[in-house]
Amino acid sequence: MSETWKPRTTAVHAGTRRSQYGEMSEAIFLTQGFVYDSAEAAEARFVSAGEDEYIYARYGNPTVRMFEDRIARIEGAEDAFATASGMAAVSGALSSILKAGDHVVAAQALFGSCLYILEEVLGRFGVEVSFVDGTDLDQWRAALRPDTRAVFFESVSNPTLEVIDITEVAKLAHAVGALVVVDNVFASPVFSDAVAQGADLVVYSATKHIDGQGRTLGGVILGSRDLIRKSVEPYMKHTGGAMSPFTAWVMLKGLETLDLRVRAQAGNAQQVAEAVQHHPALSRVLYPGLAAHPQYDLARAQMGAGGTVLSLELKGGQPAAFRFLNALKIAQISNNLGDAKTIVTHPATTTHQRLSEETRTRLGISPGLVRVSMGIENVEDLLADITGALDAAG
Ligand SMILES: *Cc1c(COP(=O)(O)O)cnc(C)c1O
Repeated sequence: MSETWKPRTTAVHAGTRRSQYGEMSEAIFLTQGFVYDSAEAAEARFVSAGEDEYIYARYGNPTVRMFEDRIARIEGAEDAFATASGMAAVSGALSSILKAGDHVVAAQALFGSCLYILEEVLGRFGVEVSFVDGTDLDQWRAALRPDTRAVFFESVSNPTLEVIDITEVAKLAHAVGALVVVDNVFASPVFSDAVAQGADLVVYSATKHIDGQGRTLGGVILGSRDLIRKSVEPYMKHTGGAMSPFTAWVMLKGLETLDLRVRAQAGNAQQVAEAVQHHPALSRVLYPGLAAHPQYDLARAQMGAGGTVLSLELKGGQPAAFRFLNALKIAQISNNLGDAKTIVTHPATTTHQRLSEETRTRLGISPGLVRVSMGIENVEDLLADITGALDAAG
């Protein structure tokens, strides 16, 4: 394996392990356990398992290891631990580095389940969490304290697509000795340079772009070898959030086409955002790739693109948003994102329904807001579908 491979070559070849049969497609090692040649060999492996020596699938498995190696290479991280879902990755990353008495600073614009962990779970174990507007560096500065052990944020927030400056937040966090944990789902590994920008742990829901075809749940935690093997692995392997070998195989195949799909999706998102930004049915088009976006320059510097998701705010509130959703023919109403299929979501009544109206207003999740995760379909068809539905809704 070459250290100089470019991203698509890495995505197709990195981490591959072939059995004695020389199979072309990666093998699914659908096994929970491993057989030892002797009692002494079993004892030796439990004392210290070397590279590619496995004990139990909750600890590691060859197919899972292929996925971890490949995504670590794509992300530019030293190591990775694969998890059963994105939420297993978020809760595992935080739980493996925090203890009672620690303080955490988090951005307030978070995925609902992430908010649950930070608001409900961590507090029960004696971790104090302060929330800030992630785009306001003064608020980070004011909230960080000598006992702050970690900061947590989504680098691009859902569904309002605010971009948080990883480099600047990491500088502030590192100055007080805090670790930087970034949920980087909206950037995807394709538009991520988070490790170089200062993230200590990068977390993905692999359910999104990495699978990208709506089949399986999965997640991954990436970081330095030290953090992954000494903090994350012991926690994950004993608490049970491991990725299954079958899922790892689906995700490995997803990685092969990740760059092609995500770039096609982002290209579609850019074209649709530009085409509809002055549509009379819309009060706002939120997309980090539009020059009108408040963090356009930051998005370009941090990701080099606007990403695969845009949000549209309809002037006619929820009735207009529902008319728009119901008039679409290609785009599907669902709540996943990062899929090859274009997916539309009405956050106020689905993914963010649990929040109070006041919180939704503070986060900019208005009744007219619709999130659009762009797929890989032909952009002409998507434009016709979306503008047609906007005309019908307006
Ligand atoms: C989907 C998502 C998660 C959770 O991932 P699952 O695979 O559904 O557990 C976490 N963070 C963000 C930003 C997400 O979009």
